[in-house]
Amino acid sequence: MDIRNGFIGTIGNTPLIKLRKASEETGCTILGKAEFLNPGGSVKDRAAWAIIKDAEIRGQLRPGGVIVEGTAGNTGIGLALVARARGYRTVIVIPETQSEEKKEMLRLCGAELVQVPAVPYKNPENYVHVSRRIAEERAASEPNGAIWANQFDNVANRQGHYETTGPEIWQQTDGTVDGFICAVGTGGTLCGTGLALKERNKDITIGLADPMGSAIYGFYANGELKAEGSSITEGIGQGRITDNLEGAPVDEPFQITDQEAIPQVFSLVEEEGLILGTSSGINVAGAIRLAKKMGTGHTIVTMLCDSGTRYTSRLFNADFLRSKDIPFPEWVANLRDGGM
Ligand code: PMP
Repeated sequence: MDIRNGFIGTIGNTPLIKLRKASEETGCTILGKAEFLNPGGSVKDRAAWAIIKDAEIRGQLRPGGVIVEGTAGNTGIGLALVARARGYRTVIVIPETQSEEKKEMLRLCGAELVQVPAVPYKNPENYVHVSRRIAEERAASEPNGAIWANQFDNVANRQGHYETTGPEIWQQTDGTVDGFICAVGTGGTLCGTGLALKERNKDITIGLADPMGSAIYGFYANGELKAEGSSITEGIGQGRITDNLEGAPVDEPFQITDQEAIPQVFSLVEEEGLILGTSSGINVAGAIRLAKKMGTGHTIVTMLCDSGTRYTSRLFNADFLRSKDIPFPEWVANLRDGGM
């Protein structure tokens, strides 16, 4: 019998997919961990469950309790669905400028949405600060507890990857993995997975694939947190060393432009039949860079974080891509007038 126990039991243990084209091009074995197959559709299901489990163990949440977070992305979906599965409620605070599709998706997952004006982080009305304040208020008033998920600085996030993603990759490759690389949003994936792999074999090379507009490449390349340029990628890029990123064992940092990364997304559709999101494009481009740096014959693992169906209005939109000077194949232009 091979039966998974509900939503929580279905998180993780995702397959490793050999990426044929990237492997051929580099003479290495490039493997993508299929995180888009998690039940909530992304790698963030792992962090959501890790954060909620940690709060349960600490006695901060009991059935009927409330989870609060400021996010419009995959973390909100993951938290809301884990909450449903465990009998909690979720309050998700988002800037009102977020797309209707994202708002609908979060409501469908069971989240209560609080919309706030889109103002910068230094403004106290920024959605992150509002989410922290709501969590504090609810923690005082809810009989069954309330928590602020705080994905960036709550290290339960990286602990989840340390306990699951890293050991899974080690086992799935029979310990033959030579390199691991991914991008950073909170840093939970890179640091948690990186630490778990280094603990098993200190010679494993950990790479960082950083989009333009993010400051993390500069930090690991020359000790300077400095961002330049911009990127259409979503869910990744960071301007500071979060608590989850603190102590990440990064050996090889790479800065990757959209012009290099996004065509990888199209290539994955054409060559592998995989429809993936923007961060997977950065990750696969990073894996190819790391493979070329390490030389042929190595096994390199990266993350396929979520599905491209979450980004159709930008990623598969020829007009949008043209406006950003990002090359795309003919079939993207033919999807519909100007895109999808
Ligand atoms: N890719 C996608 C699509 C994401 O939503 C996220 C999370 N923000 C990441 C990558 C980065 O993962 P982490 O937060 O663990 O650094």
